[in-house]
Amino acid sequence: MSARFRIGIDLGGTKIEGAAVDASGSVRFRRRVVTPAQDYRATIDAIIALIRTIEQEIGTTAPVGIGIPGAISPTTGLVKNANSTWLIGRPLQHDIETALGRPTRLANDANCFALSEATDGAGAAMETVFGVILGTGVGGGIAIRRQILVGANAIAGEWGHNPLPWPTPDEVPGPPCWCGRSGCLETFLSGPALAMDHHRHSGQTLTAPEIAEAAAARDPECRATLARYMHRLARGLASVINLIDPGAIVLGGGLSGISTLYEQVPRLWTRYIFSDRVVTPLLPPVHGASGGVRGAAWLWRPDEAP
Ligand SMILES: [Zn+2]
Repeated sequence: MSARFRIGIDLGGTKIEGAAVDASGSVRFRRRVVTPAQDYRATIDAIIALIRTIEQEIGTTAPVGIGIPGAISPTTGLVKNANSTWLIGRPLQHDIETALGRPTRLANDANCFALSEATDGAGAAMETVFGVILGTGVGGGIAIRRQILVGANAIAGEWGHNPLPWPTPDEVPGPPCWCGRSGCLETFLSGPALAMDHHRHSGQTLTAPEIAEAAAARDPECRATLARYMHRLARGLASVINLIDPGAIVLGGGLSGISTLYEQVPRLWTRYIFSDRVVTPLLPPVHGASGGVRGAAWLWRPDEAP
């Protein structure tokens, strides 16, 4: 077992990414495979095969951390809250440990992202970091002194299924959400939600990156859509600041590439925050797309071994 390397696995709905991370936090070997969607057993097999491939490449076994969509229920040990629904209700940790033959650590993928950015990323100087995923879904994680805050129900930081705060009359009840409620932040702030909002107002069918690009080129309809999006994001994050007042908020996921968010959203959130001045920085991720695997690897400290 190598103390020099840890292996991080990021289990996503469409791809599984794995990497060996060395003691300095550098990603040394990285591989990506397609997730066998809807097939639980094949998903386990793909994860194990990926770990074996990486271990062959680095020439040794290493501690394994895995970021998953959803969370492991502290009461049942089963997966819950996963938009990759074929994982829900399954003993994922138990089955992986049995197949691998040694302990592994599993954590919510947004928590892994927050941990990565809090450990040696954009929030490294901060005591408390709120990491936000704005992608196909909307998630969040809280890292305090470079440790994940899991919470009594393993849902700490899950702001995506809170309602959009300070809604305008046309934002109520809001779009239906897969969780069974309506008007969740995810139904306004995910990539597909941005595309849908644009379609509702303009009749145009564009993806989130296309809307952002056209808005940057001063297209009026796309600018209006992005303005609505930023105002909603500002309100959503203002409620987080009022609650945990983090030292920094770091954005991740596909929409974190929209550079105007970092300038505009902090201007918009001040009127909703219960403070005379607001110093909270809104930051882009340092590690970009590697945040998932790095955070999963950081579930083990360099000096730990299972
Ligand atoms: Zn929801």
